[in-house]
Amino acid sequence: MSSQPPLGEFDIIEKFFQRSASRPDVLLGVGDDAALVTVPENNQIAISTDTLVEGVHFFSDIPPRALGHKALAVNLSDMAAMGAEPRWVTLAITLPEIDEAWLAQFSKGFYDLAEYFNVALIGGDTTKGPLSITVTVHGVVPEGKALRRDGAKPGDWVYVTGNIGDSGLALAHLQDKISLNPQQLELSLKQHYYPQPRVLAGYGLRDIASATIDISDGLYNDLQHILRKSHCSAVLNLDSLPLSETMNEAVGVDQSIALALNGGEDYELCFTVPESNKGSVDTSLSFSGIQFTCIGQLAPGHGEIKLKYQDKPYQIEPTGWDHFN
Ligand code: ADP
Ligand code: MG
Repeated sequence: MSSQPPLGEFDIIEKFFQRSASRPDVLLGVGDDAALVTVPENNQIAISTDTLVEGVHFFSDIPPRALGHKALAVNLSDMAAMGAEPRWVTLAITLPEIDEAWLAQFSKGFYDLAEYFNVALIGGDTTKGPLSITVTVHGVVPEGKALRRDGAKPGDWVYVTGNIGDSGLALAHLQDKISLNPQQLELSLKQHYYPQPRVLAGYGLRDIASATIDISDGLYNDLQHILRKSHCSAVLNLDSLPLSETMNEAVGVDQSIALALNGGEDYELCFTVPESNKGSVDTSLSFSGIQFTCIGQLAPGHGEIKLKYQDKPYQIEPTGWDHFN
């Protein structure tokens, strides 16, 4: 039996992370000391980084293809939340060992999403150690058009894209807090492992939203960031929360609300729209094919969120947000 010598750092890069960059604005990609890109005129560069650490952000048995997808998706979601067009990414990966089958799947998950959004992997770093993945994304946005957290005003309407809470539903199952049937698990795990960054919605919101954020830590926490930066409070109408059929079928009303508000990792967009632009939301988002729902309205304040359910004030358990503990 002949055994191949183990792959070294450069073999790994060449084999799994060096597909030729298809973008004409990449002058130099993987393989030199730094990448070189051409920046379009009258645009600003939006830059964001996110790290995923084993045991903190994902369990060790996560399918490697899902991990590759998610590591990129969470970064593209930040571009969506800025209304920016993601163009170039770098990948710093720390691996405990070289497992070619694992790397092939990871790389597939990463590149499938990158190619879908025409994003080029232009560099990175490969090291040995506890499993951790850091992606940095660079995007472009026309000057002055970026969607920020600090532009909302009292009276603006609060919206979210897609359905919320399904990723948290899957996580609750993985943590043995609830038990989903196989079909419910499959549908919610798809949201948990393969979130679809709302990049196209971000473009549509550039001219109509007063503030935008992507929901990574749960709607409640992330909306608070907009409220604090914009000096507002909010009233949320929980009857209008967009919940999936899976959610409605799998858990009761209080648990659905808890998951929608605090489940986290939905990677949907939460955005605010002034009354004067309310009629344009439909047209602005229709080309993206992405569902959106109005869930409340802003008032003057300092970050407070009032919850209403069936026209009555609604309280989340005082012991905390997590109804499953
Ligand atoms: P240097 O020693 O000059 O920092 P490295 O040996 O770290 O270069 O990397 C060699 C080349 O491979 C560089 O162009 C770097 O950007 C790229 N690279 C390293 N790791 C990755 C990775 N995981 N994904 C994409 N490109 C990578
Ligand atoms: Mg290096």
